[in-house]
Amino acid sequence: CGIVGVLGHHEVAPILVEALKRLEYRGYDSAGIATVNNGRLDRRRAVGKLVNLSDLLVHEPLAGKAGIGHTRWATHGAPNVANAHPHCAGSVAVVHNGIIENYRELRSELAQNGMGHETDTDTETVALLADYHLKQGLSPSEAARATVARLEGAYALCFLFDGETDLLIAARKGSPLAIGHGDNEMFVGSDAIALAPLTDRITYLEEGDFAVVTRDGVTITDFNGELANRDIRTIQID
Ligand code: GLU
Repeated sequence: CGIVGVLGHHEVAPILVEALKRLEYRGYDSAGIATVNNGRLDRRRAVGKLVNLSDLLVHEPLAGKAGIGHTRWATHGAPNVANAHPHCAGSVAVVHNGIIENYRELRSELAQNGMGHETDTDTETVALLADYHLKQGLSPSEAARATVARLEGAYALCFLFDGETDLLIAARKGSPLAIGHGDNEMFVGSDAIALAPLTDRITYLEEGDFAVVTRDGVTITDFNGELANRDIRTIQID
């Protein structure tokens, strides 16, 4: 179970897979990545070792310079391709570590609004809810904020949006998450080790942090939008 995100200058698919490899030590049963290419969201997912995902990417490449990736340790739903992350709904892709405890309530609420689920995961509910808020007219970051405000449980989340090649949203409550600062590139990872080859300048998110990430940098607030001051540390990893 690991999360990575990249807003880069180069093709991100190989960078995401490489970063996920550095999170293999956490254990996982499946993996996947999503990118925005020419403004369009797309994803690739595979069960088992990361090499299965790399193989798939050789045959079905994924272009794009903004993306998110995930290694899954299934808690809700069997470890199969349909349940693997990233989960997509409409214009949103999301990766998640942890458990959304109130996903059943949210799921039935969304179903009443005509938004049915297609997987057995708690995570898909997060994507559906974010897409619901987008359809209500909220901006991507407002939609993500309105979404996390409704979630109960433990999570690290990273969102990617259709049409947004310079935006990642990360949120932390109960699962660690770090932001990496590059040279006009930005990164998100479950830990600094995942980002070690990319940058040694790290901001650790604290509980209840909501991060709006662009290539220019990151703005961190609490879930209500109150600014939070988090420093950038230069770390050393061998
Ligand atoms: N609860 C989610 C799932 O089962 C996320 C699991 C994880 O942390 O990898 O898909």
